[in-house]
Amino acid sequence: MADDYYQILEVPRTASAEDIKKSFRKLARKHHPDVNPGNKAAEERFKRLNTAFEVLGDPKKRKLYDEFGEDAAKMGFDDKKAEAYRAYRSARASGGGPGGIPFSGGGVDFDLGDLFGDLFSRAGAGGAGFDVGEILGRRASARGPERGEDLTAKVALSLAEAIKGTERPLSFQRPGRCQRCNGRGEGGASGPCPTCKGTGRARRSAGTSFAGACPTCNGTGRASEPCPQCGGTGVTDEATRLTVKIPPGVQTGSKIRLAGQGAAGPRGGPPGDLYIETEVAEHPLVRREGDDLYLDFPVTISEAMLGAEVKVPTFQGELTAKVPPGSQSGRKMRLKGRGAPSLKGGTPGDMYLVLQVKVPEAASDEVKAAAETLSRAYPGDVREELKL
Ligand SMILES: [Zn+2]
Ligand SMILES: [Zn+2]
Repeated sequence: MADDYYQILEVPRTASAEDIKKSFRKLARKHHPDVNPGNKAAEERFKRLNTAFEVLGDPKKRKLYDEFGEDAAKMGFDDKKAEAYRAYRSARASGGGPGGIPFSGGGVDFDLGDLFGDLFSRAGAGGAGFDVGEILGRRASARGPERGEDLTAKVALSLAEAIKGTERPLSFQRPGRCQRCNGRGEGGASGPCPTCKGTGRARRSAGTSFAGACPTCNGTGRASEPCPQCGGTGVTDEATRLTVKIPPGVQTGSKIRLAGQGAAGPRGGPPGDLYIETEVAEHPLVRREGDDLYLDFPVTISEAMLGAEVKVPTFQGELTAKVPPGSQSGRKMRLKGRGAPSLKGGTPGDMYLVLQVKVPEAASDEVKAAAETLSRAYPGDVREELKL
């Protein structure tokens, strides 16, 4: 392999740490960009020297590289995970692993996709320094049990439900583990393995004459028929019913993750997650801005002028508020903590009453006379300030 770090550093695999360092220094001097101005090949070579030395010059990374190859060393995953993988691999090689997918033992034919697909897909990207989703998408191996897809379901809610939280029964179809083969994808009957024609031996890859245990049948020479129910995928559609708890405070676009409730993984792979995406309907009276709520609040002329105690409906129940005397239309009254709860557990939002002074629609002569009296109470022109 041209990208073998030992070859790049021109040392044997058994080289001591000192030999590796020496060879790196010698080659780095030779290919340094300062010594080879404008020489693209030398620049490239210099980069590769550095990459190779970064790994082989570090005993821990070198050990990983020796065991798992270039990608593992680059990812920098820790010893614990590597050990977990070792244990997992030996369990699989002896046929007892999850999913029962034949896996070639011996450590030669290890594909990183298997490792991430199984051990790390649930760990999330945090801390590991790489994006697991990207790796699964790019490197997922057809041989290993892949993780099932994440599914998304939309749930429509009223504003009251979104603020107070609710429970919602859902029924839908999802790819589930095949009941007939329990996700293994194999049927009852077995015959000679199609890859090795029953010999149990197969070449590892095109171009090499080295023959090892056949990866398809794990050297047994026998292979099972695919399950007639799922066609060998280990996955069939299943009707699913579950009740989703919607926490108080969700908005349109909030996502609730239900771990392991997504699609079943092919051939016994772990299931994906189910995301519930909430969609909150517009309320005819209440506007929402973040966690704050705004309610247009009608008051009479006398309530606005003289002040009043008024009953206010809120999503947390009715309460009494004081309209201050001399309130104008548009005045905002804050009801602290009566908005939407914070999804993140912080302080809840507030509710604002936006006062709307209502004029009576029909007016008797007496009321008209009262209005005339009122109009004399303005000290000047109410539109005096209106200058454009
Ligand atoms: Zn075979
Ligand atoms: Zn099946």
